[in-house]
Amino acid sequence: MIFPLNGNENLRASVFNMINSRRIPHAIIIEGDEGTGRHTLAYFLAKAAVCRGNERPCDRCRDCGMASSHNHPDIIPVSPEENKKSIPIARAREIRAEAYVKPHSADKKVYIIDHAERMEIPPQNALLKVLEEPPEAVIFIIITTSRTQLLPTIVSRCVCLSLTVPDFETAFNSVKNQLKEEVDDEAVKEAVKSVGNNIGLCLSLLESRGENKVRAAAKEFLRLLFDGSEYEMLRFFVPFEKDRVKTNEFFECLKIEISAALKKDYKRIVRARALTKLYSFIDEWQRLLKTNINLPLLFSAVVCKSKSIIGGNL
Ligand SMILES: [Zn+2]
Repeated sequence: MIFPLNGNENLRASVFNMINSRRIPHAIIIEGDEGTGRHTLAYFLAKAAVCRGNERPCDRCRDCGMASSHNHPDIIPVSPEENKKSIPIARAREIRAEAYVKPHSADKKVYIIDHAERMEIPPQNALLKVLEEPPEAVIFIIITTSRTQLLPTIVSRCVCLSLTVPDFETAFNSVKNQLKEEVDDEAVKEAVKSVGNNIGLCLSLLESRGENKVRAAAKEFLRLLFDGSEYEMLRFFVPFEKDRVKTNEFFECLKIEISAALKKDYKRIVRARALTKLYSFIDEWQRLLKTNINLPLLFSAVVCKSKSIIGGNL
């Protein structure tokens, strides 16, 4: 069984102990900042709770399958409705009533209560009523940024697992392993540092960067570089003319795109050489961007230099 979290090794023994002794507590608080793996841990415990294999979670039984695809009828996510701040009292009362109904498929039924820090006092009190006399087959996993946001009477009835961010090395390796597409090591290092080793935040930072328009623009720039005219390249920069932040993001994305292109195209020596050379100028352009330089001027320098690199004049 693989421990689902990177870092937080101090929790490994207690988590496996709960699972292996078949004594997952009736109420667990998982506290930590967003991105520290709270949901990963919650769904891991929930899967272990519904699993029918010997070594749980076995990842082979039907229940594990449904849990992995977030389709298990006995794993019930509870979070505030869209546009609502908190879980409403009516939902908390519903849960209180439903909790006494037997599970559908597994031996246990697991409620995963998200954003518990936003719960107001009345719904917390409704929840407290079930925690005081928990039904045999029910497990509540309460996810929160901090247990101090919950009623002390709730906290005292729960086992609390606190998640923290790992060290830099662990965070870096974990992000590298989880990224869906190749990102340059330096870019990953920078991203990990910028979010203080928070793996989840770093992944969403790098992945959203992967999806956004600036990333697409970096791809388009490389296409124009090889197949477009100087005039087309100058026109390409018009939407950036008033936005230094976006321009800087463009340069960052360009580095990522060049790294990706080099991995794919390394056999095309001339092209690879040109791209490597182009890459080496980007830091200088980013430095200039921080000065008072006029953006159209910077862009014409970028176009001029890039085309000379491709033309083999540099
Ligand atoms: Zn299983």
